[in-house]
Amino acid sequence: MEKRIYNFSAGPAILPEEVLLEAQRDFYSYKGSGMSVMEMSHRGKIFDGIIKEAELDLRKLLDIPQNYAVLFLQGGATLQFSMVPLNLMPPANKADYIVTGAWSKKAVKEAKRVGSVNIAGTTESENFTRLPKQEELNLSADASYVHFTSNNTIFGTQYKTEPAVGSIPLVCDASSDILFRKIDVNKYTLIYAGAQKNIGPSGVTVVIINKNILERSSDSLHTYLNYKIHVENDSMYNTPTTFGIYIAGLVFKWLLNMGGLDAMYKLNTEKAGILYDYFDSSDGYYTGTVKIKEDRSLMNVTYRLPSEELEKKFLDEAKQKGFEGLKGHRSVGGIRASIYNAFPKKGVEDLVEFMKDFKAKN
Ligand SMILES: *Cc1c(COP(=O)(O)O)cnc(C)c1O
Repeated sequence: MEKRIYNFSAGPAILPEEVLLEAQRDFYSYKGSGMSVMEMSHRGKIFDGIIKEAELDLRKLLDIPQNYAVLFLQGGATLQFSMVPLNLMPPANKADYIVTGAWSKKAVKEAKRVGSVNIAGTTESENFTRLPKQEELNLSADASYVHFTSNNTIFGTQYKTEPAVGSIPLVCDASSDILFRKIDVNKYTLIYAGAQKNIGPSGVTVVIINKNILERSSDSLHTYLNYKIHVENDSMYNTPTTFGIYIAGLVFKWLLNMGGLDAMYKLNTEKAGILYDYFDSSDGYYTGTVKIKEDRSLMNVTYRLPSEELEKKFLDEAKQKGFEGLKGHRSVGGIRASIYNAFPKKGVEDLVEFMKDFKAKN
């Protein structure tokens, strides 16, 4: 077999090796059916089993209550930037957005096409190097919902607990940290996540929605943009992205086999801890870009070297050693190690060894 690299890509990102190998085994003929999953009807018995099992396993992982629907949609998190306000903003047409990075800004842009947006908190003037504190939030009493981004893929910040919003429905873009640990789904009205960071291949978007809020979805909405239609049709209003859902299902089984989300959280804490502990003890050679330690992400670890020249050299040498995808987003610069659920601990340990060696030589 070909050797695989250590893939630190921010997304589409690494998948568990076990999942890739299982999909490879069943690729040509799925479990004796004589067809690939890609070639079978989404309304047939086999795929019906695949999507139902994926939903059940996701429900198990997150303890999703029965009054929530689970959807597998398309259009990425980006389409959710529009679907959320189109469905949830009326009739008041007012919503609160906490802006903690580039993705929240894009969400705001679409919400403004539907109604008025109150920026309930932002750290943009500090280039998003921390999260707004609870006491800095300026929430409106009459907002239709509050939207926040749980993990900021580009800036490397992550909420450790949800912002407190009282009885206003909470909506979360969890694209880059869904399933990194257990959360209390009851605190949210809607959670959405593009799959390509922590779930599976791009093309699938998971939406977890409290069915109570569906009464807000107006019949005048375009059919595909209406959550109620997708819930009534069990994500099968149109042809879903069958292969992506199949792979996501394999990832859910892998997570259950790994011991579920409490075990993943322990592992994710250890993995990120190895990196943060190392650069905090590197005498300022490696410096984290996030200003408040509590706000640091367990998924995307962002840091700088003493100069841009050294960063370039670091990235070149890292690549030669088989560490790929470490270049930070252009708005932050530096290095970004994305270490989602599927990223192995050994890879983080090996990266730290490389960092020590690089520091000694440079
Ligand atoms: C990657 C990402 C997105 C965009 O997802 P698409 O599937 O490309 O639309 C949105 N939000 C966050 C937090 C992301 O990390």
